[in-house]
Amino acid sequence: INCWRKCGVMGTYSHMWWDCPLVNEFWKQIGIEILGRKVGISKLMVLISLSSTEFKTKEECKWVKWMVTAARQVIASNWKNVEVLG
Ligand SMILES: [Zn+2]
Repeated sequence: INCWRKCGVMGTYSHMWWDCPLVNEFWKQIGIEILGRKVGISKLMVLISLSSTEFKTKEECKWVKWMVTAARQVIASNWKNVEVLG
């Protein structure tokens, strides 16, 4: 099955949640909006919800975890809706 976002790539699990350019952009934007910088969310965090050592404070780590959970729900609910995502 190809990615439903019509980027022409095989829709693997990792692609759907991270590698797809559209999703990747989505994560970047979240990182910028919440943390004010580009880093913050790693592929592993999204795929298996690992926490990252990149965070300076516990508070920041908590925020990002919450954010990833919420964002995953957004992606899931837009699973087949290209337009709404982002
Ligand atoms: Zn894609």
